[in-house]
Amino acid sequence: MASAVKWDMESTSTNPPAFDQASLIRRYPQQPLRNQVAVVTGANSGIGEGVVRHMAAAGAAVVVNYVVHPEAAQAIVDDIVHAGGKAIAIEADVTSEDQVVEMFKQTVQTFGTVDIAVPNTGLQRDSRFEEMTLDQWNFVIAVNLTGQFLCAREAVREFLRRGPRPEISSATGKIIHMSSVHEFIPWAGHVNYGASKGGVMMLMKSLAQEVADRKIRVNSIGPGAIKTPINTAAWATPEAEHKLLDLIPYNRVGIADDIGRAAVWLASDDSDYITGQTLMVDGGMTLMEGFATGG
Ligand code: NAD
Repeated sequence: MASAVKWDMESTSTNPPAFDQASLIRRYPQQPLRNQVAVVTGANSGIGEGVVRHMAAAGAAVVVNYVVHPEAAQAIVDDIVHAGGKAIAIEADVTSEDQVVEMFKQTVQTFGTVDIAVPNTGLQRDSRFEEMTLDQWNFVIAVNLTGQFLCAREAVREFLRRGPRPEISSATGKIIHMSSVHEFIPWAGHVNYGASKGGVMMLMKSLAQEVADRKIRVNSIGPGAIKTPINTAAWATPEAEHKLLDLIPYNRVGIADDIGRAAVWLASDDSDYITGQTLMVDGGMTLMEGFATGG
Protein backbone atom coordinates (compact mmCIF):
# COMPACT_ATOMS: atom_id res chain seq x y z
CA MET A 1 0.00 0.00 0.00
CA ALA A 2 1.32 3.45 -0.87
CA SER A 3 2.55 5.47 2.06
CA ALA A 4 1.23 9.01 2.44
CA VAL A 5 4.33 10.10 4.32
CA LYS A 6 7.92 9.46 3.44
CA TRP A 7 10.21 8.71 6.35
CA ASP A 8 13.94 8.42 5.93
CA MET A 9 15.09 6.13 8.75
CA GLU A 10 18.61 7.52 8.50
CA SER A 11 17.73 11.18 8.62
CA THR A 12 17.81 13.18 11.82
CA SER A 13 16.33 16.50 12.85
CA THR A 14 14.00 16.58 9.88
CA ASN A 15 10.69 18.31 10.19
CA PRO A 16 7.76 15.90 10.13
CA PRO A 17 6.44 15.48 6.58
CA ALA A 18 3.34 17.40 5.54
CA PHE A 19 0.17 15.37 5.10
CA ASP A 20 -1.22 14.64 1.65
CA GLN A 21 -4.95 14.01 2.19
CA ALA A 22 -5.51 12.33 -1.19
CA SER A 23 -2.75 9.77 -0.49
CA LEU A 24 -4.09 9.18 3.00
CA ILE A 25 -7.47 8.19 1.58
CA ARG A 26 -5.81 5.49 -0.54
CA ARG A 27 -4.62 3.89 2.69
CA TYR A 28 -8.23 3.19 3.75
CA PRO A 29 -9.89 1.44 0.80
CA GLN A 30 -12.41 -0.18 3.15
CA GLN A 31 -13.34 3.14 4.80
CA PRO A 32 -13.60 1.64 8.31
CA LEU A 33 -15.16 4.83 9.77
CA ARG A 34 -17.67 5.52 7.00
CA ASN A 35 -20.95 7.15 8.07
CA GLN A 36 -19.45 8.03 11.44
CA VAL A 37 -18.79 11.43 13.02
CA ALA A 38 -15.60 12.22 14.93
CA VAL A 39 -14.79 15.20 17.17
CA VAL A 40 -11.07 15.75 17.71
CA THR A 41 -9.95 18.50 20.10
CA GLY A 42 -6.80 20.50 19.52
CA ALA A 43 -6.95 19.23 15.95
CA ASN A 44 -5.29 22.15 14.18
CA SER A 45 -1.78 21.11 15.20
CA GLY A 46 0.49 18.14 15.81
CA ILE A 47 -1.05 14.84 16.88
CA GLY A 48 -4.63 16.15 16.69
CA GLU A 49 -4.10 17.07 13.04
CA GLY A 50 -2.75 13.59 12.34
CA VAL A 51 -5.76 11.98 14.03
CA VAL A 52 -8.38 14.16 12.37
CA ARG A 53 -6.85 13.72 8.90
CA HIS A 54 -6.62 9.94 9.28
CA MET A 55 -10.19 9.69 10.57
CA ALA A 56 -11.45 11.79 7.66
CA ALA A 57 -9.47 9.63 5.23
CA ALA A 58 -11.04 6.54 6.83
CA GLY A 59 -14.49 7.91 6.00
CA ALA A 60 -15.60 9.89 9.08
CA ALA A 61 -17.13 13.36 8.99
CA VAL A 62 -14.84 15.29 11.31
CA VAL A 63 -14.84 18.30 13.60
CA VAL A 64 -11.50 20.11 13.73
CA ASN A 65 -11.59 21.80 17.14
CA TYR A 66 -9.24 24.69 17.83
CA VAL A 67 -8.80 27.51 20.33
CA VAL A 68 -6.14 29.59 18.54
CA HIS A 69 -5.05 29.77 14.89
CA PRO A 70 -8.40 29.45 13.09
CA GLU A 71 -6.52 29.67 9.78
CA ALA A 72 -4.69 26.41 10.56
CA ALA A 73 -7.99 24.68 11.37
CA GLN A 74 -9.60 26.04 8.19
CA ALA A 75 -6.67 24.89 6.04
CA ILE A 76 -7.11 21.33 7.34
CA VAL A 77 -10.88 21.49 6.74
CA ASP A 78 -10.32 22.81 3.19
CA ASP A 79 -7.84 20.04 2.46
CA ILE A 80 -10.21 17.32 3.70
CA VAL A 81 -13.19 18.75 1.81
CA HIS A 82 -11.11 19.21 -1.34
CA ALA A 83 -10.16 15.52 -1.16
CA GLY A 84 -13.88 14.59 -0.98
CA GLY A 85 -14.35 14.34 2.78
CA LYS A 86 -16.61 16.08 5.28
CA ALA A 87 -15.17 18.47 7.86
CA ILE A 88 -15.96 21.62 9.81
CA ALA A 89 -13.86 23.71 12.19
CA ILE A 90 -15.31 24.65 15.59
CA GLU A 91 -13.69 27.03 18.03
CA ALA A 92 -13.94 25.96 21.66
CA ASP A 93 -11.72 26.25 24.70
CA VAL A 94 -11.91 22.77 26.22
CA THR A 95 -11.61 24.18 29.73
CA SER A 96 -14.94 25.99 29.31
CA GLU A 97 -17.97 23.81 30.02
CA ASP A 98 -20.26 26.11 28.01
CA GLN A 99 -18.00 26.08 24.97
CA VAL A 100 -17.59 22.30 25.01
CA VAL A 101 -21.36 21.80 25.35
CA GLU A 102 -21.89 24.23 22.46
CA MET A 103 -19.30 22.44 20.29
CA PHE A 104 -21.10 19.12 20.65
CA LYS A 105 -24.47 20.82 20.04
CA GLN A 106 -23.13 22.37 16.83
CA THR A 107 -21.66 19.03 15.77
CA VAL A 108 -25.00 17.25 16.21
CA GLN A 109 -26.81 20.06 14.35
CA THR A 110 -24.37 19.75 11.43
CA PHE A 111 -23.68 16.02 11.19
CA GLY A 112 -26.60 14.46 13.14
CA THR A 113 -24.66 12.78 15.96
CA VAL A 114 -21.21 11.91 17.30
CA ASP A 115 -19.73 8.40 17.10
CA ILE A 116 -16.10 9.03 18.04
CA ALA A 117 -14.55 11.57 20.41
CA VAL A 118 -10.82 12.17 20.72
CA PRO A 119 -10.07 14.44 23.69
CA ASN A 120 -6.55 15.16 22.51
CA THR A 121 -5.78 18.60 23.90
CA GLY A 122 -2.77 18.88 26.14
CA LEU A 123 0.09 21.22 26.96
CA GLN A 124 3.07 21.66 29.24
CA ARG A 125 4.04 24.38 31.73
CA ASP A 126 7.34 23.01 32.99
CA SER A 127 9.05 24.02 36.20
CA ARG A 128 11.22 22.67 38.96
CA PHE A 129 8.80 21.50 41.62
CA GLU A 130 9.81 23.99 44.32
CA GLU A 131 9.28 26.84 41.85
CA MET A 132 6.05 25.60 40.29
CA THR A 133 3.28 28.16 40.67
CA LEU A 134 -0.33 27.30 41.41
CA ASP A 135 -1.20 28.85 38.03
CA GLN A 136 1.16 26.46 36.24
CA TRP A 137 -0.35 23.53 38.11
CA ASN A 138 -3.97 24.60 37.59
CA PHE A 139 -3.54 25.46 33.91
CA VAL A 140 -2.08 22.07 32.99
CA ILE A 141 -4.70 20.17 35.00
CA ALA A 142 -7.49 22.30 33.47
CA VAL A 143 -6.47 21.69 29.85
CA ASN A 144 -5.08 18.15 30.07
CA LEU A 145 -7.50 16.56 32.55
CA THR A 146 -10.62 18.69 33.04
CA GLY A 147 -10.78 19.46 29.30
CA GLN A 148 -10.65 15.74 28.52
CA PHE A 149 -13.36 15.08 31.15
CA LEU A 150 -15.70 17.70 29.65
CA CYS A 151 -15.31 16.36 26.09
CA ALA A 152 -15.73 12.74 27.16
CA ARG A 153 -18.85 13.63 29.17
CA GLU A 154 -20.53 15.42 26.26
CA ALA A 155 -19.66 12.52 23.98
CA VAL A 156 -21.16 9.96 26.38
CA ARG A 157 -24.31 12.09 26.71
CA GLU A 158 -24.70 12.10 22.92
CA PHE A 159 -23.99 8.35 22.58
CA LEU A 160 -26.68 7.60 25.18
CA ARG A 161 -29.17 10.06 23.65
CA ARG A 162 -28.73 8.55 20.17
CA GLY A 163 -28.48 4.88 21.23
CA PRO A 164 -27.01 1.97 19.29
CA ARG A 165 -26.65 1.91 15.50
CA PRO A 166 -25.29 -1.60 14.87
CA GLU A 167 -25.44 -1.05 11.11
CA ILE A 168 -22.84 1.73 11.54
CA SER A 169 -20.63 0.35 14.34
CA SER A 170 -20.73 -2.49 16.86
CA ALA A 171 -20.16 0.04 19.66
CA THR A 172 -22.62 2.78 20.51
CA GLY A 173 -19.69 5.17 20.82
CA LYS A 174 -15.93 5.28 21.08
CA ILE A 175 -13.71 7.64 23.11
CA ILE A 176 -9.96 7.79 22.61
CA HIS A 177 -8.13 9.91 25.18
CA MET A 178 -4.72 11.27 24.23
CA SER A 179 -2.58 10.30 27.18
CA SER A 180 1.21 9.86 27.18
CA VAL A 181 3.97 7.47 28.15
CA HIS A 182 3.99 9.77 31.19
CA GLU A 183 0.83 8.17 32.55
CA PHE A 184 3.36 5.42 33.32
CA ILE A 185 6.87 6.95 33.31
CA PRO A 186 7.51 9.58 36.02
CA TRP A 187 8.86 12.89 34.66
CA ALA A 188 10.95 15.14 36.90
CA GLY A 189 10.50 18.84 36.16
CA HIS A 190 7.02 18.12 34.74
CA VAL A 191 5.06 17.11 37.85
CA ASN A 192 1.91 18.92 36.72
CA TYR A 193 2.00 17.18 33.32
CA GLY A 194 2.71 13.74 34.84
CA ALA A 195 -0.13 14.19 37.33
CA SER A 196 -2.50 15.20 34.53
CA LYS A 197 -1.65 12.12 32.45
CA GLY A 198 -1.90 9.81 35.46
CA GLY A 199 -5.32 11.38 35.95
CA VAL A 200 -6.25 10.75 32.32
CA MET A 201 -5.38 7.08 32.80
CA MET A 202 -7.81 6.64 35.70
CA LEU A 203 -10.43 8.85 34.05
CA MET A 204 -10.26 6.55 31.02
CA LYS A 205 -10.29 3.28 32.99
CA SER A 206 -13.04 4.30 35.42
CA LEU A 207 -15.21 5.62 32.60
CA ALA A 208 -14.59 2.49 30.52
CA GLN A 209 -15.76 0.36 33.44
CA GLU A 210 -18.85 2.53 33.97
CA VAL A 211 -20.13 2.58 30.38
CA ALA A 212 -19.02 -0.77 28.95
CA ASP A 213 -22.44 -2.34 29.53
CA ARG A 214 -23.92 0.37 27.34
CA LYS A 215 -21.56 -0.64 24.53
CA ILE A 216 -19.35 2.44 24.78
CA ARG A 217 -15.64 1.76 24.40
CA VAL A 218 -13.12 4.05 26.11
CA ASN A 219 -9.39 3.74 25.51
CA SER A 220 -6.26 5.90 25.42
CA ILE A 221 -3.28 6.30 23.17
CA GLY A 222 0.01 6.85 24.98
CA PRO A 223 2.34 8.58 22.53
CA GLY A 224 6.07 8.44 23.12
CA ALA A 225 8.18 11.19 21.55
CA ILE A 226 6.30 12.53 18.54
CA LYS A 227 7.59 15.45 16.45
CA THR A 228 5.07 18.24 17.12
CA PRO A 229 5.16 21.86 18.30
CA ILE A 230 4.82 20.73 21.95
CA ASN A 231 8.38 19.35 22.02
CA THR A 232 10.29 21.01 19.16
CA ALA A 233 13.29 21.66 21.41
CA ALA A 234 13.70 17.89 21.90
CA TRP A 235 14.29 17.15 18.19
CA ALA A 236 15.11 20.44 16.44
CA THR A 237 18.88 19.92 16.38
CA PRO A 238 20.85 16.74 15.52
CA GLU A 239 22.31 16.71 19.04
CA ALA A 240 18.88 16.92 20.66
CA GLU A 241 17.42 14.26 18.40
CA HIS A 242 20.33 11.85 19.00
CA LYS A 243 19.88 12.28 22.74
CA LEU A 244 16.18 11.56 22.38
CA LEU A 245 16.94 8.38 20.43
CA ASP A 246 18.72 7.03 23.52
CA LEU A 247 15.23 6.63 25.01
CA ILE A 248 13.68 4.92 21.96
CA PRO A 249 14.57 1.28 21.23
CA TYR A 250 13.04 1.49 17.74
CA ASN A 251 15.53 4.27 17.01
CA ARG A 252 13.36 6.85 15.37
CA VAL A 253 11.30 9.71 16.70
CA GLY A 254 7.58 9.31 16.04
CA ILE A 255 5.40 11.48 13.81
CA ALA A 256 1.71 12.38 13.97
CA ASP A 257 1.03 9.84 11.21
CA ASP A 258 1.97 7.04 13.65
CA ILE A 259 -0.73 8.22 16.05
CA GLY A 260 -3.35 8.83 13.34
CA ARG A 261 -3.12 5.23 12.14
CA ALA A 262 -3.45 3.86 15.68
CA ALA A 263 -6.43 6.12 16.38
CA VAL A 264 -8.34 4.89 13.32
CA TRP A 265 -7.82 1.31 14.41
CA LEU A 266 -8.96 2.04 17.99
CA ALA A 267 -12.06 3.80 16.66
CA SER A 268 -12.93 1.04 14.19
CA ASP A 269 -14.75 -2.24 14.76
CA ASP A 270 -11.40 -4.01 14.24
CA SER A 271 -10.73 -3.21 17.91
CA ASP A 272 -14.29 -3.97 19.06
CA TYR A 273 -13.29 -6.14 22.05
CA ILE A 274 -10.86 -3.56 23.45
CA THR A 275 -11.90 -1.15 26.20
CA GLY A 276 -10.16 0.37 29.21
CA GLN A 277 -6.69 0.10 27.66
CA THR A 278 -3.85 2.46 26.84
CA LEU A 279 -2.20 1.64 23.53
CA MET A 280 1.39 2.88 23.85
CA VAL A 281 2.58 4.17 20.48
CA ASP A 282 6.14 4.90 21.51
CA GLY A 283 8.75 2.94 19.53
CA GLY A 284 9.33 0.94 22.71
CA MET A 285 10.02 3.89 25.03
CA THR A 286 8.10 2.19 27.86
CA LEU A 287 10.40 -0.86 27.52
CA MET A 288 12.96 1.11 29.61
CA GLU A 289 15.89 1.20 27.18
CA GLY A 290 18.31 1.75 30.08
CA PHE A 291 17.84 -1.93 31.03
CA ALA A 292 18.77 -3.23 27.55
CA THR A 293 22.37 -3.81 28.53
CA GLY A 294 22.01 -4.95 32.11
CA GLY A 295 20.15 -3.74 35.12
P1 NAD B 1 0.46 20.52 20.04
O1 NAD B 1 0.90 21.66 20.88
O2 NAD B 1 0.87 20.47 18.62
O3 NAD B 1 -1.12 20.36 20.08
C1 NAD B 1 -1.91 20.71 21.19
C2 NAD B 1 -3.20 21.29 20.66
O4 NAD B 1 -4.08 21.60 21.76
C3 NAD B 1 -3.00 22.61 19.90
O5 NAD B 1 -3.82 22.61 18.76
C4 NAD B 1 -3.47 23.67 20.91
O6 NAD B 1 -3.90 24.88 20.31
C5 NAD B 1 -4.61 22.91 21.54
N1 NAD B 1 -5.08 23.50 22.80
C6 NAD B 1 -4.35 23.94 23.85
N2 NAD B 1 -5.16 24.42 24.80
C7 NAD B 1 -6.44 24.25 24.36
C8 NAD B 1 -7.71 24.57 24.89
N3 NAD B 1 -7.86 25.11 26.11
N4 NAD B 1 -8.80 24.26 24.14
C9 NAD B 1 -8.69 23.71 22.92
N5 NAD B 1 -7.50 23.40 22.37
C10 NAD B 1 -6.39 23.68 23.08
O7 NAD B 1 0.99 19.23 20.81
P2 NAD B 1 0.80 17.67 20.49
O8 NAD B 1 2.13 17.07 20.69
O9 NAD B 1 0.10 17.45 19.21
O10 NAD B 1 -0.13 17.24 21.71
C11 NAD B 1 -1.37 16.60 21.56
C12 NAD B 1 -1.59 15.64 22.73
O11 NAD B 1 -0.60 14.59 22.67
C13 NAD B 1 -1.43 16.29 24.11
O12 NAD B 1 -2.41 15.76 24.98
C14 NAD B 1 -0.05 15.86 24.54
O13 NAD B 1 0.08 15.82 25.95
C15 NAD B 1 0.00 14.46 23.93
N6 NAD B 1 1.35 13.92 23.80
C16 NAD B 1 2.25 14.45 22.91
C17 NAD B 1 3.52 13.87 22.82
C18 NAD B 1 4.56 14.36 21.84
O14 NAD B 1 5.69 13.86 21.89
N7 NAD B 1 4.25 15.29 20.96
C19 NAD B 1 3.86 12.79 23.63
C20 NAD B 1 2.93 12.30 24.54
C21 NAD B 1 1.67 12.85 24.61
